[in-house]
Amino acid sequence: MPGKFPNEVLDQNKIASLLSGKRVLDKIRFSEILAKASKSEGLSLEEAAFLLDVESIDDRLALTEAAIKVKESIYGPRIVLFAPLYVSSHCINDCLYCGFRTGSQTPRRRLTNEEIKGDVEAIIAMGHKRILMVCGEDPTIEPRDIATMMQVIYDTRLPKGSIRRVNVNVAPLDTEGFRIIKSAGIGTYQCFQETFHRETYFRMHGRGPKSDFDNRIHVFDRCIEAGIDDFGIGFLFGLYDHRFEMLALLQHIAFLEKNFGIGPHTISIPRLEPAEGANVFETTPWKVSDKDLIKATAILRLAVPYTGIILSTRESSAMRQKLLRVGVSQMSAGSITNPGGYSDESRAVSQFSVQDHSSLDRVIRKVCGEHFIPSFCTGCYRKGRTGSKFQKLAKGQHINEFCSLNAVATLQEFLEDFASPETKAVGEKSVEKFINGQNDGNLKTRMADWRARIKNGERDIPY
Ligand code: SAM
Repeated sequence: MPGKFPNEVLDQNKIASLLSGKRVLDKIRFSEILAKASKSEGLSLEEAAFLLDVESIDDRLALTEAAIKVKESIYGPRIVLFAPLYVSSHCINDCLYCGFRTGSQTPRRRLTNEEIKGDVEAIIAMGHKRILMVCGEDPTIEPRDIATMMQVIYDTRLPKGSIRRVNVNVAPLDTEGFRIIKSAGIGTYQCFQETFHRETYFRMHGRGPKSDFDNRIHVFDRCIEAGIDDFGIGFLFGLYDHRFEMLALLQHIAFLEKNFGIGPHTISIPRLEPAEGANVFETTPWKVSDKDLIKATAILRLAVPYTGIILSTRESSAMRQKLLRVGVSQMSAGSITNPGGYSDESRAVSQFSVQDHSSLDRVIRKVCGEHFIPSFCTGCYRKGRTGSKFQKLAKGQHINEFCSLNAVATLQEFLEDFASPETKAVGEKSVEKFINGQNDGNLKTRMADWRARIKNGERDIPY
């Protein structure tokens, strides 16, 4: 595989030429690009590069306003919530920025199936319905073991609920491995390239299987071949020039669309955080400012309008509020990033430091307060609306209809079963306002009907 594909995915010369020189922002061109992007038509690589140059407060504002408009037109006010579940901190890689690296002597933990069940029960008890299962590259965990762990998660039940969708972030597998986890009911397979800049990649990942850049960049080729058509991509902001990474990410997406007819289901925007036993956070010359992360997120929303954008608790609560307003559509909440941390207070070493420690209840209250609708919707995945089927619906702007009903239902379930009195009061108002604001009379009636049924004790109403 090495050497066979790389130039097809990335054209580093093109990126370099698009980023070279300091340009003066042409206001007319800027308005033209924003007008086109506001119609959810996406951005060419040149247009994205142009927007990366936007500097003034007014221009940044125009950019972020266009981004939220596009997000609202496709996804409406919904924000999907989930919890990460770390099952092992053992890892054979030496990613210089990561708390799980081989070079760090920090204590590690691998959960037994019983311990996984304990953490899942704690996550369900918070009110979550979606989990992102995460682990280091732990050679003792084979694809069959990942499948078993997923089954443990799906099988864990409390009287008030269960997990309805398991997404997975594990090191790249081969096609057969992907087939195994596909058959266990994976939602989205997620893997970040970390950096698309080869030299930086080799410097950051000198040892272990992750040192193979080509194996990682072609991971989705194998995942799609195995039938997993919901996949999530991203890079770690802070390892290299984020403007280069942004354009490379867009080239990667174009490669996937051209060769497989599908783009990513989600893009994540992780930003480098301090980690125990790793010092890249302290030494990198490529730190990304809040302003630039907001701008980059807005550009991603405009460039790939139909793709979910995922935000984690790496960001502070204040920053998460800002990023919500530029097109983020999914976020983790109440996260713990060390294995066993949800059910066991001992807190083994985390992968990186988390900034937003708010509980799920508090996050829901805040999200509602910002006039968004928190959702635990899993309808599309359960109904087989994945990959190109989902993207077709989103492009026809139909996804809103399906998901709005499920959003109301799952938020109402949370309010009935898990919310504090304060959150319940705020949430009830949000649901009511959302239902009343619907233009489609049928949908409005159905929402009100489902809400009443949930208040009467029904749960997980089949769509
Ligand atoms: N083993 C899997 C793999 O190889 O992709 C999972 C890696 S890790 C558990 C999940 C993600 O956390 C990484 O892909 C990386 O982007 C991110 N990460 C690692 N160290 C980080 C840090 N110090 N700050 C923020 N994010 C970090």
